[in-house]
Parts: sequence; C-alpha cells; structure tokens
Amino acid sequence: MSLLTVIVPCYNEEESLPIFYEEIKKVAESFKKEKVEFEFLFINDGSMDKTLEILRGLSKKDKRVRYISFSRNFGKEAAMYAGLENAKGDYVTLMDADLQDPPALLKEMYDLITKEDYDCVGTRRVTRKGEPPIRSFFARCFYKLINKISKTEMVDGARDYRLMTRQMVNSILEMKEYNRYSKGLFSFVGYKTKWLEYENVERVAGETKWSFWKLLIYALDGIIAFSTMPLMLSVLIGILFCVISFIAIIVIIVKTIVWGDAVGGWPSMVCILFFLSGIQLFCMGVLGAYLSKTYLETKKRPIYIVKETEKSNKN
Ligand code: UDP
Ligand code: MG
Repeated sequence: MSLLTVIVPCYNEEESLPIFYEEIKKVAESFKKEKVEFEFLFINDGSMDKTLEILRGLSKKDKRVRYISFSRNFGKEAAMYAGLENAKGDYVTLMDADLQDPPALLKEMYDLITKEDYDCVGTRRVTRKGEPPIRSFFARCFYKLINKISKTEMVDGARDYRLMTRQMVNSILEMKEYNRYSKGLFSFVGYKTKWLEYENVERVAGETKWSFWKLLIYALDGIIAFSTMPLMLSVLIGILFCVISFIAIIVIIVKTIVWGDAVGGWPSMVCILFFLSGIQLFCMGVLGAYLSKTYLETKKRPIYIVKETEKSNKN
C-alpha cells in the first residue's frame, strides 16, 4: 500500500469545498485497485468564512481528512509549504479547492510517475480562456522576461497543480527561504518532470483571490527571488550614463573654447537632471528591493503559524 497526500490550500472557500470534497472522494475511489490510499490535507489560510467549520466537519466524518488552520492569512505560498511539511504520503499533490485543477488528471499523473521514469508530473494551461485579456498579456510578457533573465526555467501557464515523489518533496523542503516563489523552487530542484497540458477551467464557485496588483507584486517577487539581473542592469545603466556624460563634457569644453561661453540650454538642463534623478531613484529602488528581501530573510520569521489542527480540535 502506498499513500498519496492531496494538499489543498483554502482561503474563503466555503462554497467550493463541499463540491471539491465530493470530486476528490470519487478520484480516491478510482485508485482503490491501484492499492493507493489517500490523505486529504486541507490548509485553512486564515479564512474569514465557514471554511474551518466545514473542515472540522469533514475531518470528523472522514478519517482521511486532516487539516491545518493558520492563525491568520499567510498566503498561498505559506499554505503550500505547510502542506508539504506535514504531508505523510509517498506521493504528494497540490490542488486548488476551486476545481480549476481537474482531479481527474491525477490518475494519469500517477501512472506516469509509477510506470514511467518521472519524478514529477506538472500541469500547464494552454489556454487562458475566461481571464481578462490584459492579464493574459502581462502574464505572457512576464514569462518571456523571467526566462531571459533567470537561469531557472519557468514554464508559461504552469499551475501549482503537480504530483511529486517523496524524494522531490524532501528536496523542496530543504529550501527554507522565507520569500517563497514555488514555481521557481519546483524548477530549481530539478528532477525529471513531465508536463500535462489542459484547457483552462473556470472556478466552480467563489471568486479568485488574485487582483491585478497582487499578481504584479507576485511577479516582481519572482524576479527578485530568481534573478539578480536587475542589479546588474543598474550597474550597466550607471556605466552607460558615465560614458554619455564624459562625451558631453568634452563636447561642451570644445564648444566653449571654439565659440566662447553662451548661457543657454537651461530647459534641456532641467530635463537631463530630472531624467538622471529618475534613473538614480530607480536603481536605488532595485537595490532596496533586494535589500528588503535579505532583511526579511535574516529575521527568520516562521513562514506560517498554526492555530488548530484536526488533532488539537477536541470538540
Ligand atoms: N489561496 C490561499 N491563500 C491565499 C489565496 C489563495 O490558500 O491567500 C488558495 C485558494 O483558496 C485556492 C488557491 O489558493 O485554493 C488558488 O487561489 P485562486 O483560485 O484564488 O487563484 P487562481 O486560481 O485565480 O490563480
Ligand atoms: Mg483558482
């Protein structure tokens, strides 16, 4: 018998959870003949609705259901980390509660790992149907950019939904960094990964927790976590401007010697000043961004705080 852990991060998912549970139960049923047992590990990421009550109910009804409830909202990255840390399975999968990650794919993923020589089967959306076009556009730009400036490969459209072997999970857990960007971490550890492609599925209930700004910040976090190119870029811009100013100085000296000193060009001077201060502030910002991440990293704060689990809940 082997054990498969399904990790489900939940943040305000009272509407989706019951539907999700019914679906995943069916999938677990279909695995019976493979001699695979299931463990459902729900992470309640500080939900403000009835998510926790639902999880308490499920864990009482079904021994396979475990849950970890955070003391507040720590974000999906923290929830995934908590799930990976507490999963007991020989195989571990991460799945959204909104059924955007089709549980039916799990069988194919399992077969690929057990019958073929893969350590991980990931999924990627080949369409972005149902998403605002502007969001898809920026997402595509982001993937192009990050793949140019980072050595770690990020697959466009890759979901967090994947099945991994215990060995790979342990490798991921060895990276205890505070600023977690899982898409990068999964890719960083290597191992043989097979990608399954599927068409985008819309949420069954509730709504997405990601606003455009949240996604933008997340994208910047990803760049900072997996590339030092922006720092290098600041250096290059600095050098470029030194060269330009050096040439300009020579031009001005020559002009003054040849034609004498004519006061003029104040407006252009102001423009140049503004431009250069802008560049300086930008570069300082880039530096600051890395520094702030280092600052957070050195504090070694816990990635998540647990308030309740199915074991601690006595009532
Ligand atoms: N989620 C979470 N913490 C958060 C935000 C989201 O645990 O702070 C969970 C959420 O409950 C869902 C999954 O992460 O199961 C994906 O979230 P969502 O569906 O909002 O993202 P999208 O699919 O739109 O990218
Ligand atoms: Mg979703």
